[in-house]
Amino acid sequence: MVRAEGVHKSYGLAHVLKGIDLEVAPREVFCLVGPSGSGKSTFLRCINHLEQINAGRLSVDGQLVGYRQKGDKLYELKDSEVAAQRRDIGMVFQRFNLFPHLTALANVMEAPIQVKGEAKAVARERAERLLDRVGLGDKGKHYPTQLSGGQQQRVAIARALAMEPKLMLFDEPTSALDPELVGEVLDVMRGLAEEGMTMIVVTHEMGFAREVGDALVFMDDGVVVESGHPRDVLSDPQHDRTKSFLSKVL
Ligand code: ATP
Ligand code: MG
Repeated sequence: MVRAEGVHKSYGLAHVLKGIDLEVAPREVFCLVGPSGSGKSTFLRCINHLEQINAGRLSVDGQLVGYRQKGDKLYELKDSEVAAQRRDIGMVFQRFNLFPHLTALANVMEAPIQVKGEAKAVARERAERLLDRVGLGDKGKHYPTQLSGGQQQRVAIARALAMEPKLMLFDEPTSALDPELVGEVLDVMRGLAEEGMTMIVVTHEMGFAREVGDALVFMDDGVVVESGHPRDVLSDPQHDRTKSFLSKVL
């Protein structure tokens, strides 16, 4: 579903991704862990072309991100084509980023109506179903300020799902939450995984990675240091950098 080959990314002189190679299979829960500043968010942002890579190849579902290849030449996609690629990728951030002036239900209805031109009644029906699915069927009329952090994050997940993405990116979705609210968000993510959603999850929740993850990559300083099944990497890390990181988060 996602393939990265020798992906490099710099911000000015700061070389942040230094040749990332990895592959995410369809229906896989792919966990990305590593210290602050190692490039995890940058990599996610490259996948939906919020950042442009400087070298290498990055593809989603067989399509190059942001480019079309003809022969051995690459052509940049038009904005509308980039938008079309992005539509298939849902993203959930650490901060919930809900529209504050819209109810939970309207937040979930917004993108299908605005981006896909969907009829309101259709969008509403799906939004109600999705709110139900994240356990918030009775909170549709609430505004974000009337919801807890965990509830807001579950609305954010429902909002991303409303576009019926084929890939979901999670960037530390529980890091901003009070500890007692983390579980309800992880449970929703676990449910999504069980339904076969392909997910890349940046997280410090090693329990989740171990129980739900199919693959885990440890990144440090812009490179993949170690990868494998979460159980193996977490219980028997091979590299000193991985060991040192895990000793701090486990
Ligand atoms: P964290 O765990 O703290 O979220 P991260 O692994 O997600 O860290 P990134 O946010 O990808 O790390 O940042 C990697 C490096 O790139 C950092 O040194 C950061 O300062 C730098 N960086 C990120 N975004 C930009 C930007 N827009 N312009 C310049 N430098 C940036
Ligand atoms: Mg980050």
